[in-house]
Amino acid sequence: MNDYVAFYSKLDEQGKKKFEEKFKQFLSAVKISGANAEVEDLDRVLIGAAAVIPIYYIPDWEYINLREVLLYPGNFNMEFEQHGNERLISGMVGTGGLENVMIISKWELRQGFINNKNNRNTAIHEFVHLIDKMDGTLDGVPELLLQRKSIVQWQNLIQLTMEQIRRGESDIDIYGATSPVECFAVISEYFFEQPELFSSNHPELNEMLQLIYVRK
Ligand SMILES: [Zn+2]
Repeated sequence: MNDYVAFYSKLDEQGKKKFEEKFKQFLSAVKISGANAEVEDLDRVLIGAAAVIPIYYIPDWEYINLREVLLYPGNFNMEFEQHGNERLISGMVGTGGLENVMIISKWELRQGFINNKNNRNTAIHEFVHLIDKMDGTLDGVPELLLQRKSIVQWQNLIQLTMEQIRRGESDIDIYGATSPVECFAVISEYFFEQPELFSSNHPELNEMLQLIYVRK
């Protein structure tokens, strides 16, 4: 865990213990299966870590909207074919028949943790969607974690951020301009991957994400 998970390695002894408890609780509640991919111990560690990182400071959080994580070898397309032409998707949270299922590419899962120099972590991104969805709507507003009085401010800030990305005036990944849902997930990846850089480049967003995830 120390070698791959920077968030964990920065915690003190007591913090690591708390992380491990949440990690074990997650892995005992959610099934991880391979779809033409072997689920190795490292994959379990990384999926569990990606689940715990965004909710580490939130007491008693359970991903009640997740029952299984499906590990694919590489990217996939919307029809879940692993060998089509448009293997563009590296992770997703399912709907319909795949409700409560997350699909993630093994390759992307590992890249997210091996490469700490960028602002990307696909697994964390997908868990942020689950957090967003926990209040019943996937809309870019985590109602359970954000106080009601801050919601309008949050929505305005997300709109402003998307406009800045579109104008090329931001170092946030272009995918964040897709929708408020993706914007929330993309900035959260950046926030957890490069906390110092994020807070210095995006003080206002940082303040809001602190309210959501860190709550102090
Ligand atoms: Zn997404």
